Amino acid sequence: MKITNFEQLPLSAPIQRALAEKGYTKPSQIQARAIPVLLKDRDLLACAQTGTGKTAAFALPLLHKLSQSNRKPFRRGVRHLVLTPTRELASQVAESFKVYGQYVEFQYGLVYGGVSEKPQIKQLFKGLDILVACPGRLIDLMEQGHVDLSQVETFILDEADRMLDMGFIRDIRKIEGKLPKERQTLLFSATMASEITKLGQAMLHRPEEIRIAPQGTTAEKINQSVCFIAKGAKQKYILELLKQHVEENPRELTLIFTRTKHGAKHLAKKFNQEGLIADSIHGNKSQNAREKTLERYRQGEIDILVATDVAARGIDVKNITLVINFDLPMESDAYVHRIGRTARAGESGQAISFCSLEEVALLRQVERLIKKPVPVLRDQPYHEQDIEDLHLSDRPVKKPAQGGGNRQRRGKPSNNSGNHSRSNFRGKSGGNSGSQSNSRANKANKSNRTQRNRNR
Ligand code: ADP
Ligand code: MG
Repeated sequence: MKITNFEQLPLSAPIQRALAEKGYTKPSQIQARAIPVLLKDRDLLACAQTGTGKTAAFALPLLHKLSQSNRKPFRRGVRHLVLTPTRELASQVAESFKVYGQYVEFQYGLVYGGVSEKPQIKQLFKGLDILVACPGRLIDLMEQGHVDLSQVETFILDEADRMLDMGFIRDIRKIEGKLPKERQTLLFSATMASEITKLGQAMLHRPEEIRIAPQGTTAEKINQSVCFIAKGAKQKYILELLKQHVEENPRELTLIFTRTKHGAKHLAKKFNQEGLIADSIHGNKSQNAREKTLERYRQGEIDILVATDVAARGIDVKNITLVINFDLPMESDAYVHRIGRTARAGESGQAISFCSLEEVALLRQVERLIKKPVPVLRDQPYHEQDIEDLHLSDRPVKKPAQGGGNRQRRGKPSNNSGNHSRSNFRGKSGGNSGSQSNSRANKANKSNRTQRNRNR
């Protein structure tokens, strides 16, 4: 049977009511396929691109089960555990549970680093039906004996690919080690890298597999383009672009990605000096400040948000119609996630990427992942044919050094094709997007975790 509306799914009345109020009528593809599987208590390995409604795909069946049972959580116990890579995503997922579950009685809690442990410990003490957590802080609290995972019924890994990219594999395995063998496990990911499949094999029991889009496919409705531009001209051009965009589309939001925290901060400041309304979120900002900024952005009080990858992951804000990659990401997967911040829930959007001479290797990597060339915007005042030629040539190019991508160095852009970089981008801290990927994976001790949290 083809499922075309939520009423066809055996979800209880309180859930149906919340969905109707939220204005959802038609389940997305992943929802239509995953919900029946999850209601049957099967394990699931699911891959669908960002913005396709994965949260509700796992939240609805879980809430349904909660609405059908009157088992209560016990002291310090957790019945259903959701792991997410970042704090922003954790709060967003918790918020979704709240909305979809507004007519279901349940206790939920949120656990992430960067804020005081005390209120989190207090929440845990009472026992929770649902806990949404980031791995680092959860392990800290676990080790201090504040949470008991021995009776978890459902274990959900959201954005599993990103968690692996961020070096959380050890933490995930450690947490998994505390869970009962008898449980339901779900793994959600936007991309299906081989590490994800491996993780799935290790943790899932005879899972059902659902793949909605092939690996790396970018949302179809996003109009993508790349501008070949000298590094030194990027700032000037982005200002021109933004001024025009804000004037023509005053009610729409723009999201800009930079490689470094410094770059994000600097750009937002520059925009404000030029009369644009902008702010930034990055790992150097406190959790509170980040959330406040996000909320203002969501409310439309800020037109332009400049973010680093880590801070922006999973952000679901309506009305973002333009995403600009001021710097291309070091990891190609991040490209798909970044541009997926626009064209949410079936809307359309535009994604423009700046590619300087130093970034040609990154663009090639993106195109390999999405399996098609990004259309070139030649009709722009700073177009550099040399960079495009290099991109199209067979000449080898190196990745730039992590962290140095968008510091606004004055002076002429370098003229050699990036071979000054000694590809040390994984070694140093200071980077905040991909720097943890493989690096300390074999030494996930506490100080590393703390360091990671600081980097965010
Ligand atoms: P993903 O986790 O796959 O990136 P999300 O779960 O964050 O996607 O959902 C993306 C957006 O789509 C959210 O704004 C959500 O409210 C909306 N959405 C999800 N499911 C539906 C639906 N069935 N109908 C309408 N909107 C939906
Ligand atoms: Mg998601």
